[in-house]
Amino acid sequence: MEVKRIAVIGAGTMGNGIAQVFAHRGYPVVMIDIKDSFVERGIAAIEKSLSRLVKKEAISEAVKAEVLGRIKGSTSIKDASSADLVIEAVLEDFAMKTKVFKELDGLLGKDAILSTNTSSISITALAAQTSRPDRFIGMHFMNPVPVMKLVEVIRGLATSDETIAAIVDLSKKLDKVPVEVNDYPGFVSNRVLLPMINEAVYCLMEGVASAEAIDDVMKLGMNHPLGPLALADLIGLDICLNILNVLYCGLGDPKYRACPLLKKMVDAGYLGRKTGRGFYTYEK
Ligand code: NAD
Repeated sequence: MEVKRIAVIGAGTMGNGIAQVFAHRGYPVVMIDIKDSFVERGIAAIEKSLSRLVKKEAISEAVKAEVLGRIKGSTSIKDASSADLVIEAVLEDFAMKTKVFKELDGLLGKDAILSTNTSSISITALAAQTSRPDRFIGMHFMNPVPVMKLVEVIRGLATSDETIAAIVDLSKKLDKVPVEVNDYPGFVSNRVLLPMINEAVYCLMEGVASAEAIDDVMKLGMNHPLGPLALADLIGLDICLNILNVLYCGLGDPKYRACPLLKKMVDAGYLGRKTGRGFYTYEK
């Protein structure tokens, strides 16, 4: 089935980025959130991002207007009903995502594909909440979506080959690089990234080196653009802890246990950039 019409559920950080990249490649997109103000905030973020591209002379004012013209904001999930593909990007909460998918399942045509941008929830478990687990898939975009090339395409236990092929093909049309992985806790991205971040926190806790020194070793020695502790601050320490808990519970291996210092920082409300303090301090 050719994917022509797109619905994005959630107009937050990821949702508005996802809506932007689809609209940029010519797809009509409906972007749905629960409040008008959230939809407006999402559209404003897209406008700002496109304006940056105009300033860099990557696109013209006319293209910016065309892209914005393809995005319709809405607060009614019913406006997703004619979509061939829905990408869900609401909060990282199984019950909330399940509610959204059950509603979509009843609204959409039988061939439509459901996808989730979840960072850590089981694709297989979410798919099982719907009547179409064969047409359910993970499309894990990276932040910021318009910039990052990767789409981790996650195959749930029941995802069909046709669904995988359609999403791989579509991701390429978005000028992204799809990488297929199977559904296990943390997929590949977070299963490899979070233990590295966690180990960096252990190094800090044990006094192996300062935060700056740990990040410098990884930046200068491994050519990482950002050190693991600065990256943790960017992701949010609460999100890091949550993903480590998913790995620990899902895989049952003590090597994934979250560092006590990470837990303590989350308890203190030091969540990284978003609270102005994490492993580093930030001006609000
Ligand atoms: P966010 O908090 O920025 O946005 C979530 C949006 O969903 C909010 O605007 C909220 O109002 C909306 N929402 C909540 N319930 C809704 C509903 N029933 N219908 C429609 N909209 C609803 O969150 P985010 O950072 O964009 O993350 C979204 C998803 O993407 C999460 O599953 C997250 O794990 C995943 N993810 C995030 C990142 C990241 O770096 N932020 C990266 C990859 C994946």
